[in-house]
Amino acid sequence: MNNRLYGNLIFELSKKGRRGYSLPKDSFGDYQIPGEFRRQQDAALPECDELTVVRHYTNLSNNNFGVDTGFYPLGSCTMKYNPKINEEMAALPQFQNLHPLQPSDTVRGASALVALLEKSLCALTGLAHFTFKPYAGAHGELTGLMTIDNYHRSRGDLQRKKVVVPDSAHGTNPASAAVCGLEIIEVKSQADGTVDFDDLQRIVSEQGQEISAMMMTNPNTLGLFEVRIPEIARLIHDCGGLMYYDGANLNPMLGACRPGDMGFDVMHINLHKTFSTPHGGGGPGSGPVGVREGLQDFFPFVSPWHGNFAVMMRAYAYILSLGRDQVKYVGPLATLNANYIKESLKDVYELPIDGLCCHEFVFDGLKDKATVSTDCPTVSTDCPAGVTTMDVAKRLLDYGYHAPTIYFPLLFHESLMIEPTENESKETLDGFIAVMRQIAEEAKTDPEQVKSAPHTTPIGRVDDVLAAKHPVVTYRQMKREE
Ligand SMILES: *Cc1c(COP(=O)(O)O)cnc(C)c1O
Repeated sequence: MNNRLYGNLIFELSKKGRRGYSLPKDSFGDYQIPGEFRRQQDAALPECDELTVVRHYTNLSNNNFGVDTGFYPLGSCTMKYNPKINEEMAALPQFQNLHPLQPSDTVRGASALVALLEKSLCALTGLAHFTFKPYAGAHGELTGLMTIDNYHRSRGDLQRKKVVVPDSAHGTNPASAAVCGLEIIEVKSQADGTVDFDDLQRIVSEQGQEISAMMMTNPNTLGLFEVRIPEIARLIHDCGGLMYYDGANLNPMLGACRPGDMGFDVMHINLHKTFSTPHGGGGPGSGPVGVREGLQDFFPFVSPWHGNFAVMMRAYAYILSLGRDQVKYVGPLATLNANYIKESLKDVYELPIDGLCCHEFVFDGLKDKATVSTDCPTVSTDCPAGVTTMDVAKRLLDYGYHAPTIYFPLLFHESLMIEPTENESKETLDGFIAVMRQIAEEAKTDPEQVKSAPHTTPIGRVDDVLAAKHPVVTYRQMKREE
């Protein structure tokens, strides 16, 4: 690969007067654009020949890492393979060219798809109705909490303005509650990683009359099944609150068990995660909200039409291509794959919570704490003594793997959270395991190699804090060689 070429911005490849394409002359007529709207100077556009443009963008695209190019073991946010048949279905012109204002008798196929997808989700979750309006998981959480709030208001129960959220929850849970104008009560996790039932009992006895809902993820964000769900649901229902289920990642549940049967009243599903749509970088998403019978009357107005219809089409294609008999393997396979990696690495990486996990699990950095300084700050790129989770994640890039989620959940100092998903072959998992073991070995024999990684990517280690606090998002035209 030509480093000089693809390292540059297209503006820096520009040569005055170079042309890749010329617009046909005089074929647009004279539009008489009023003078005040006309440019005073030519736009500062790059001037390049066609081949330079093709190479520039092709090389840039080769720097992309995605689930179609390599293993992507991100925890908490399922990044699973997106079957190509989904794309073909979503691109069918009969669906793609519809307009939301068309008369309803001309969009019967689309309406049928919405109804059939709703029926499938009800069957998979044990809930009675879904709304497809929310555009993402977090939007679904907000919609669900507003539904619950509307329900309490309808009963004159106006003092219920608090939401119980476990300390292991995904950050969007407390954020959505806050946006909904609700106060957050954090419930602790006990040593085994599940909700501390005694702490919850204390909260309910002190503030039960003000509790609107409890939000839970099950399996939780540590990949652990919350075995006391029925008791927790009873406790919350008895004090008048409702149970909210964060079903962003439904993988481990699919075909195995249903939130509706466990006592949850309201939930959202991330169609783009569990039911596969290429996502990330802000979209596209779909976070339908499901409710128990009766609660559908309290759905708020959060967006017009039916949300991201193309994501719904992909989800339905995914469900249909698996079918009733195959879908029940998704949960068990996702669980098997996660446990296989966990068991194969726990002698070299610290496993703070042992035992069977579900679709994901968390290591607390390298096992050999002799090489890890306990007093170095969590996200340290220059920790003098030891190799951190950040270093391991960066070194993985050298071996062609996407890094797992790091430093989340916040329960451990060196969290490294892995979710392989159900799609990966044993050979892929074995390759990843071998590389993780290799890095653990390097941490002992050649720590500098790990701490200065990545070495093979176009850009080495970046200053994450600087990049977040002072992002440079525009290109300032510099004096260039003419
Ligand atoms: C991804 C995720 C969300 C948020 O979903 P978005 O579509 O990114 O808004 C919420 N909860 C959990 C557990 C998640 O993994």
